[in-house]
Amino acid sequence: MSKVEPGNSVDMLDASKIKALPPLLYAENALEPVITARTMAVHYWKHHKGYVDNLNKLIVDTDYSDLPLEEIITGTAGRVERAAIFNNAAQIWNHSFYWNSLKPNGGGEPPAALKKMIEGSFESVDACKKELSSAAVSQFGSGWVWLVLDAGKIKVVKTSNADNPLTQNLTPLLTIDVWEHAYYLDYQNRRVDYVNAVIDKLVNWEFALSNAGK
Ligand code: FE
Repeated sequence: MSKVEPGNSVDMLDASKIKALPPLLYAENALEPVITARTMAVHYWKHHKGYVDNLNKLIVDTDYSDLPLEEIITGTAGRVERAAIFNNAAQIWNHSFYWNSLKPNGGGEPPAALKKMIEGSFESVDACKKELSSAAVSQFGSGWVWLVLDAGKIKVVKTSNADNPLTQNLTPLLTIDVWEHAYYLDYQNRRVDYVNAVIDKLVNWEFALSNAGK
């Protein structure tokens, strides 16, 4: 697994559009101590790769096999008979986006342009972080918490299971995985400690800004 400069997520962005396991842009132990190498290895090689393998089996010889990942997601959302394809496709996209939403020595203050956008949508950057944290903690069961852009405003949304903001016509800026597999080995039931550590120490604000089109 190659190691590149933190914050360089261009390759990963492209990879989020394809039905393959994208390369991790940092070492498996690069997010320690917040996320251990043990959690990274299981999460990436078992869970993320599992979704990739499942999807490729499900779509072989179907109309979906030649479509980009995002079109598979929007084309199967809400269709009960396509739930397995949707779930695996969305989980591939969500995980690729999640790895990009984190970086070693992340967290801290967002870059000035993003800070301005956040302050135009929330009382303060701290208020935005608090809302992100409380949404992550209050998501019942498996899911994701997101910062999204909605008609020029930054908002916090949470989604259940594999669902993601693409299906609601929102622009995702960053995400935190709150499925138990993301934190249970390191934090057991203490989701709040995992989420707050991610926000304080790992979140990749530059990635969020690049998704905002800035
Ligand atoms: Fe996950």
